[in-house]
This record gives sequence, C-alpha cells and structure tokens, in this order.
Amino acid sequence: MAKNHCLAKSINEASWYQFRVWVKYFGKVFKRVTVAVNPQYTSQECSSCGEIVKKTLSTRTHACECGCVLDRDENAARIILSRGLGTVGHIGTSALDVGNACKDETSTLVGAN
Ligand SMILES: [Zn+2]
Repeated sequence: MAKNHCLAKSINEASWYQFRVWVKYFGKVFKRVTVAVNPQYTSQECSSCGEIVKKTLSTRTHACECGCVLDRDENAARIILSRGLGTVGHIGTSALDVGNACKDETSTLVGAN
C-alpha cells in the first residue's frame, strides 16, 4: 500500500499521528512533558547564529560561516531543544541560549574537521 503514493501519504500521516499519541501517552505515564516541534530546517539551521546552512544527507558535520562547527545531529538537537522550550513558554529561549556549543569549551566536537 505504501507504494501507492495516494495511500502512502495517508499511511505516513497516520503513522506520525500514532507516534505522537504514544509519545504523549508515555509522557503522561512517566510524568514528563512532551512537546511536538516543527522539524523544518532543524538540520540546516545554525544553532549558534540562526543562519541556514544547506547540506546533503551525507554531510555529517555542521560548519557555519560564523565559526560554529558541530556534529550535524548535535546542532539539530540544539535547535529542537530551543524550539521545544520556546513552545512551553520558556522566556528568552533561542538556540543561542541553549548552551552555545560553539563558544562552550567543554563541549565535544564529534566528527569536526
Ligand atoms: Zn552560524
């Protein structure tokens, strides 16, 4: 059914809906706040300056002109965290406030080159 592109979209949307229902349920069971964030550009937006840095799926390192060099997944995680905190009303939250790894000497640069 997933090869029929008309049905595939519905199946995909139903799957994401079911996933969100489960995450919300387990958040309630384990007394944790769950927040859905817009995933658009989370892997391309720079967590240090907010610029969009285009990269292919095979590019594993985020390297921005501002000097920020991070593993692409860590960069995306910082964007997602800042969006999530912003959603629940954490005032003044931006990717810049969520521990700027590019200026934090204790951070680990995985795969940086
Ligand atoms: Zn940047």
